[in-house]
Amino acid sequence: MRAGPDARAAHASADRSRKQILEFLVSLDCDVAQGFLLSRPLPPTSSQPALEAAADWETPDLVAPSLAGSLELTFDDGPDPVWTPAVLAALRGSPLRATFFVVATRVGEHPELVAAVRAAGHSVELHCYSHLRHTEADRATIEHDTERALAVLRGAGIEPQRWRTPDGLIAPWTPEIAAAHRLELCGWDVDTNDQRGHRAERMLAEAGPSLRPGAVVLLHDGLGPGDQRDGCEETVRFARLIAAEATAT
Ligand SMILES: [Zn+2]
Repeated sequence: MRAGPDARAAHASADRSRKQILEFLVSLDCDVAQGFLLSRPLPPTSSQPALEAAADWETPDLVAPSLAGSLELTFDDGPDPVWTPAVLAALRGSPLRATFFVVATRVGEHPELVAAVRAAGHSVELHCYSHLRHTEADRATIEHDTERALAVLRGAGIEPQRWRTPDGLIAPWTPEIAAAHRLELCGWDVDTNDQRGHRAERMLAEAGPSLRPGAVVLLHDGLGPGDQRDGCEETVRFARLIAAEATAT
């Protein structure tokens, strides 16, 4: 029996979807992602956009639900009036409790955002006042920056206990400043490199092998120095993917 016009159109559409998926896979130029993803069968085609379909079948095997639920997602460089609420929405209903390392100047502009973070059960901790790299500043400058930041946070009702310095950089005197303010310096176990603007699926594929139970995962809910992207959509999608897996436990 010959295929009618509808069947031919559907076939052509399926071919286009497969082509889009293959192009997406090729765009994942890391060895881990290619080795992992290309060894798997293509998903069934559907009316969904190809990339969304890809997300549906990649994610479950990349992060097991029990592992996803143990992760500590951390967000630097916010709060941001667009992206912080989007991250909160992505985490809503999941068991994940995230930590937001905030820029005090942004807290001063949007105190309602850190209130929303805390109301959702997440933690607000110190990032900085200005985004100064400790390795490129002198001690007195960072002491002043830290005191200004803490004053703003206290004004918003926040008494931070943890401190992630800008870019995670530590000068020889940084631990002494931290101790003076009873702050625990906090790094990360896994860098998603979300500032590069990659898609969430690629971030997951690259981070997947490094994820361990309880791992601290670095993300950004605001734009900062060195960002190679215009927004944090993929960070939000990353949070949503992890939250969905964590909720499946
Ligand atoms: Zn930062």
